[in-house]
Amino acid sequence: MAKSKKEADRDAAVRRIANELSTIGYALPGTLTVRAYACGKANCRCKSDPAARHGPYAYWTRKVGSTTKTRVLTQAQLEDYRQWLDNARRLKELVAELYELSVSVVDEDPRGLRADRKRAATAASAPRPPARKATR
Ligand SMILES: [Zn+2]
Repeated sequence: MAKSKKEADRDAAVRRIANELSTIGYALPGTLTVRAYACGKANCRCKSDPAARHGPYAYWTRKVGSTTKTRVLTQAQLEDYRQWLDNARRLKELVAELYELSVSVVDEDPRGLRADRKRAATAASAPRPPARKATR
């Protein structure tokens, strides 16, 4: 059976996603927040002067089970791992796109039970199921 333009486009999209997935490499989950903070010590300059706050520090936050884990990254770590965080974000996008394409295939599959039943109900010449014989 020849593929429709839509099916061919969808197949091409799946191949494109698969190709890009193969080049992603490391993918670090979580989010990165870079900010300065006030330490809370009563006699520290950061309390009154926003410019004297500590940092900025890079906080890498991620969910582990039901808890949120935070780790402070050094500048060198930030440089090494920032790409991995970007990779994880791209990975998520690609997986979402792949899910969407796959769901659309199943949604448009004409072999669904409901469609079959409707077709049977509307077909004038549809054979009737044999009458059930009374068991007694
Ligand atoms: Zn302080």
